[in-house]
Amino acid sequence: MINSTFLYLVRKFSADFIFPINSPPIANGILITDDHGVVLDVLENNEGLEDVLRVPGFLCPGFINAHCHLELSHLKGLLPEKQGLVNFITPIINLRKAEKEIIEHAMREAQRTMKDNGIVAVGDICNTDDSFCLKAESAMQYHNFIEVISIDPDKAEAVFSEGVKLQDRSKMQGMTSSVVPHAPYTVSSKLLQLLSEHARRTGEPLCIHNQESEHENVLFSDGTGPIKDFYAKLGNDLKFFRATGTNSLEAVLRALGEGVSLLLVHNTYTNQADLLKAEEYNAKLSFCLCPNANLYIEQMLPDIQLLAKNDRMITLGTDSLASNWSLSILDELKTLVKSDTRFDLSTLLTWATDNGAKFLGFEDKLGTFERGKQPGVNLIYDVDLDNVMIDQASKVRVLL
Ligand SMILES: [Zn+2]
Repeated sequence: MINSTFLYLVRKFSADFIFPINSPPIANGILITDDHGVVLDVLENNEGLEDVLRVPGFLCPGFINAHCHLELSHLKGLLPEKQGLVNFITPIINLRKAEKEIIEHAMREAQRTMKDNGIVAVGDICNTDDSFCLKAESAMQYHNFIEVISIDPDKAEAVFSEGVKLQDRSKMQGMTSSVVPHAPYTVSSKLLQLLSEHARRTGEPLCIHNQESEHENVLFSDGTGPIKDFYAKLGNDLKFFRATGTNSLEAVLRALGEGVSLLLVHNTYTNQADLLKAEEYNAKLSFCLCPNANLYIEQMLPDIQLLAKNDRMITLGTDSLASNWSLSILDELKTLVKSDTRFDLSTLLTWATDNGAKFLGFEDKLGTFERGKQPGVNLIYDVDLDNVMIDQASKVRVLL
């Protein structure tokens, strides 16, 4: 049992392993911080030090949740599990409408849960300004991805300018932000071009839900399939949509053009040919894994070995409570460890901390135990010490 009052008085921590992230893990290392959690030093041993608090397990910087939708928190448990993307998104359109108080209460609870789960920063998708006040008051850092949706090219200009207006409101409340497309099958190439020009002008990063369903590829390759049927049920015959004869990713990258920093989220059906093609179009690609959301919606995980090849930038996200059982990066790590034992913990924790901090632009303060940063201090305990790995029973506790 750890006495939390004591922890807040002592800022010299020793653990079985410290993961500074910018350097290799240190067995029985020491982390020294000031009162506010600013890192003063990371040492190999406690020689000559007094008042060192020994904690069992691993110490790592605060987690970065690179993909969330805080404003969908009230949909927890309401959407069908394991029935594929089209069956998942169909009811969202009506279900997301709810009383303001219900939405706000759910967001507040979700934010508190993320904080308790050791998350210090979030890349959060926004379709509205519902979450802005809550986030502006929070100690947690947010980058708002203002998401726009319209497959009709005639509406591209209007939808884009609404997105920019929402971005202005986010900026006025002191949060960094970008205006981003939802998914290949919900935006026109004209809207993608407008977003890309905006991102190049501002230097802001983009993200897009990518190949979350195999039906995206079917739609783009020959214009058929369940996504076309989904639109037909909404009374939209997609008369302006032209199949590109490619997978959806290539179509998106072609429309976006070069020079934008882009986070591809999910990638459940992304294959090697997609990646080779993708790198011809955009050298600044990063990837976000949301494994529990993938299991929730499609019962399928992406090819993580393939995505992680060649030191590609991998980040982790929870997606929303509409498509996940929890908002916990540790839970995402557990799913990764369960599905594939070939990644060491240093690599996994780099995905969970520094990579997300870098993509969201928070690397000056977050992501590593480097002197001068204030990255949060997480203790992961009940771990597999023999293999220096988290266990399915592992838990996280926020020390600072
Ligand atoms: Zn999402």
